[in-house]
Amino acid sequence: MRMSALLVPTLKEDPADAEVMSHRLLLRAGMIRKLTSGIYSYLPLGYRSLRKVEQIVREEMDAAGAQEVLLPMVQPGELWKESGRWDLYGLELLRFKDRHERECCLGPTHEEVITDLVRREVRSYKELPLNLYQIQTKFRDEIRPRFGLMRGREFLMKDAYSFDATEKGAEDSYQIMKEAYGKIFRRCSLRFAIVEADSGPIGGSFSHEFMVLADTGEDVIVSCNSCDYAANLEKAQTKAPPGNKGVSGSSMERVSTPGVKTVEDVADFLGVRQEDIIKTLIFLTEKGPVAVLTRGDHDVNEIKVKNFLNIVSLEFADAGLVEQVTGGPKGFSGPLGLSGLPMLADHSVGVMTSAVVGANKLDMHLTGVNPGSDIKVDHYGDFRCVVEGDPCPRCDGILGLSRGIEVGHIFKLGVKYSEAMNARFLDRDGVETPMIMGCYGIGVSRIVAAAIEQNHDGDGIVFPPPIAPFQVIVAPVGGKDPVIDEVAERVYSNLWEAGIDTLLDDRDERPGFKFKDADLLGIPVRITIGKKAWSQGQVELRNRRTRETSLVAEADVVETVKRVLKGWGTESIS
Ligand code: ATP
Ligand code: MG
Repeated sequence: MRMSALLVPTLKEDPADAEVMSHRLLLRAGMIRKLTSGIYSYLPLGYRSLRKVEQIVREEMDAAGAQEVLLPMVQPGELWKESGRWDLYGLELLRFKDRHERECCLGPTHEEVITDLVRREVRSYKELPLNLYQIQTKFRDEIRPRFGLMRGREFLMKDAYSFDATEKGAEDSYQIMKEAYGKIFRRCSLRFAIVEADSGPIGGSFSHEFMVLADTGEDVIVSCNSCDYAANLEKAQTKAPPGNKGVSGSSMERVSTPGVKTVEDVADFLGVRQEDIIKTLIFLTEKGPVAVLTRGDHDVNEIKVKNFLNIVSLEFADAGLVEQVTGGPKGFSGPLGLSGLPMLADHSVGVMTSAVVGANKLDMHLTGVNPGSDIKVDHYGDFRCVVEGDPCPRCDGILGLSRGIEVGHIFKLGVKYSEAMNARFLDRDGVETPMIMGCYGIGVSRIVAAAIEQNHDGDGIVFPPPIAPFQVIVAPVGGKDPVIDEVAERVYSNLWEAGIDTLLDDRDERPGFKFKDADLLGIPVRITIGKKAWSQGQVELRNRRTRETSLVAEADVVETVKRVLKGWGTESIS
């Protein structure tokens, strides 16, 4: 490809509305343009990267025995009513009516459509297992589309669905996908972690997320410094602290705390540590209000509370409800004297002594409270988010927190959809049985953004070669010298013939201008052809990542480039 003919509108300045690096660089490198909120057009370079990711995903899915299909994007509302998700999915599901007033939606995911297909076509255990996948545009009307390709409303996803006759088969299908995902992210040359994720009511270790490691990631990864335990923050557990329920000689006192509501303010005002305070949070669930107690310096983990109570909705109570159940205003809630609602407390609350709690009265707190003797807790359990330094649940190690970007998610669905939608097969004994399903997603477009978050420097993108739009850029800098231009043409066509995606910067521009663009675009290898080196029959090779340059004879270019691409960042790939 020749740069002079390519639509690659690079920008010198940072675009104003791009908050994260990948978004800024994708725009500046002329790879994407925004059409409207959360919806982007891919320009030639952006599309090339996207297609490279797509191809790696496709090859590994095929190798794992999955079969590619393409399902419709517009889906009938009835299917979603059958699965029960029409009412549960919320506003991310974009709904509309066709000219016949039939309810439709744009597919945010395809469990309903695939289950409908398979229930019609598969009858017998002999036709199972089956794993079908597609690489297709999804639409989710995200509440806050942001960060460019990272959280779009329209985005490219690979979604796969497995159907098995037995539990064992479903678990094997899951493992096969887990391994295929590892291969995919390794082939993309990305540093990643596989973390346990919440698998909702199914339980067990049947939900994993694949995270690209990047400090700018939205997701928090919890990992042990000693064993291989790793989980996302929603799922991560810690050991319950040793010791008995806290009791001490202190006695309760009521103290005046005018206008002091937050944990920080209470700690400052009373001169205590945040961990000496018990937070009392009132939530409203579909089963009624509930109180959850955590230590002042801890955050409640809503997923753990939801799983424990087996509920889907958990919202902070508004001021009116707080007043109604505690008798006091918001900001002064405490666990004493609450009745008629379940009270959950995190394990770490149980071992506290002489704690501070809200008094359920305006401008009042209680001190000297001992959970062991003073508070009537219904259930002690694991209800909080872990923090840096917590003990590992599996070994004697310590948990640490880091950041990542979720690029893939695998999940055992069990019979959730096959039961609801009646996707049954005849087993060996001729008995009708629901198929056991799994679903496996990869954010194909998000990978492009995540790769950039992980691999960039002050000059631009540093694409890993397998997903770079081009692997090599040839830059003649001879000021239109016909000899130099001829060498450039030759090097360029030799690289193409060797199967290396190469871009020729044949524009009539100064060297500095070409180099800046090459760096911005993140093309792994630049080959500069200039008069001085060529007078010795050499060209200059530059590694975008290490910025190292070397002079190479024209005849050795192809082999050297291959070697550089092959050895790319191997020391940093997990
Ligand atoms: P998130 O928690 O980030 O919203 P999710 O749990 O909704 O993700 P899944 O439904 O599991 O995601 O979708 C599969 C994959 O699709 C995710 O792992 C992610 O890589 C990608 N993905 C999800 N939502 C978006 C989005 N709005 N824009 C781009 N990619 C997305
Ligand atoms: Mg989501």
